[in-house]
Amino acid sequence: STALVLFRRDLRLTDNPALNAACAAHAQVLPVFIHAPDEDGEWTAGAASRWWLHHSLAALDNRLRVQHAGLHLRQGDTLDVLRELIRSSGATAVYWNRLYEPASIARDTRIKSALQDDGIAVHSHNAALWCEPWQIATQQGQPYKVFTPYWRNLCSQLQATESLPVPHVPGWRELPDDLPLAALELLPRIAWAGGLSEHWQPGEAGAQELLEIFGDDAIGDYAHARDLPARHGTSRLSPHLHFGEISARQIHFDLDRRAQRVDAKRRPDIEPYLRELGWREFAHHLLFHFPHTPTANFNPRFNDFSWAPPNQALLTRWQRGRTGIPLVDAGMRELWHTGWMHNRVRMIVGSFLTKNLRQHWQHGARWFWDTLVDADLANNTLGWQWVAGCGADAAPYFRVFNPVTQAKRFDPEGHYLRRWLPELADAPLALLHEPWRDADLLKRSGYPAPMVDLGQSRQLALDAYGALAR
Ligand code: FAD
Repeated sequence: STALVLFRRDLRLTDNPALNAACAAHAQVLPVFIHAPDEDGEWTAGAASRWWLHHSLAALDNRLRVQHAGLHLRQGDTLDVLRELIRSSGATAVYWNRLYEPASIARDTRIKSALQDDGIAVHSHNAALWCEPWQIATQQGQPYKVFTPYWRNLCSQLQATESLPVPHVPGWRELPDDLPLAALELLPRIAWAGGLSEHWQPGEAGAQELLEIFGDDAIGDYAHARDLPARHGTSRLSPHLHFGEISARQIHFDLDRRAQRVDAKRRPDIEPYLRELGWREFAHHLLFHFPHTPTANFNPRFNDFSWAPPNQALLTRWQRGRTGIPLVDAGMRELWHTGWMHNRVRMIVGSFLTKNLRQHWQHGARWFWDTLVDADLANNTLGWQWVAGCGADAAPYFRVFNPVTQAKRFDPEGHYLRRWLPELADAPLALLHEPWRDADLLKRSGYPAPMVDLGQSRQLALDAYGALAR
């Protein structure tokens, strides 16, 4: 019999449960990718994600060709295309790995029941998460809203399990209507993606390479180095995880095995890193149980908060890294150039936007959505709601990051600032964190004066919050 395997954000051959199950049960397996951006509702992939997807699909197709197979590319309404493929191939079953965004869940539920009505077997699997969002619940059977008890519960169920092997993909053949990758028009039309190509290798091999580097060099020092934006102290696996080029299960097993290998005294503590993957699980748990939160405050008290009116001029300066606050600008330029930003700096640019500029967190979430290669509805929603103070388990609104103090603490030598602010590269360290203290330096370098006074704008934000609290 013949089966279709519908690839979405599980763009790998190793540890792919849907692919494995199909290959074990059918004489012919046809891997398919259907480009259907309209089905993502309000959250169609942004420019950076489309760039990544293009290269990831190319990498997956290459991997499949080594298995004497290939990816059948289509575009259009997913159900229509699947029905057409079923007709032309004689398939009796469809396999996929589950997605957790509200629009995807609604679409998959609809397609599953339509195909079942047609007499087609539909099998869905978990390829992305350690635990399904509905598997972790409080003693009262409710979803968690606070991370620490959620994590404790998750840890009690977590086991390092070996990855599924790459299967032999049986009976592959060409189909007449396959599209070339270029037909999906995923690549940007403006010359912006050069920095992305310099910094990333989309696909399974790129993910494995980063895991090797992280496991060999950085895991032991992660708890400390993860806060230093100038260092490569984190894994940078986020885009690979988002596109499912590697699974959280594979990472856990690999790091656990490494930790067993080294002698007990030098054994790295992998818990701080697993905990961050735990935040990713928690973000999916929240998105699944509270699907309105990508566009609505988790904490409805914030519905009455007096955000400043949307101001495109302010937003543009923030987006382009021209605020005059060095750490904010360095982060925003890192994002524009590489499609990624260090986690600590994400918190600082987010705090600056939502507190010092008092712009609604949605403006930030949308910009990140378009420019991050790891843009992920669950993680981005959690991140922005956390920063803005309106999330489930969030930083209190009154905790406003001071970007100068943060820069002095986490980039004391100014390496990160100098890397992303070339006009300040020669500034003396004493001025680098606060270049406005020397008017000549601003004039010489062309670096802008601060767009707001940090102290005054902080006070205005606290006043607005105070009015809300009353
Ligand atoms: P590592 O430190 O190596 O962590 C390993 C993995 O754990 C990450 O790849 C990621 O999958 C997960 N992770 C780490 N921190 C978090 C976190 N705070 N929340 C959820 N998962 C986490 N992450 C995204 O993947 N996509 C986003 O769209 C996104 N938007 C964010 C927006 C804001 C405002 C903030 C503050 C954070 C956001 N994050 C997002 C979380 C975090 O910044 C990134 O996951 C992390 O910087 C990715 O780098 P890394 O892979 O080197 O992380």
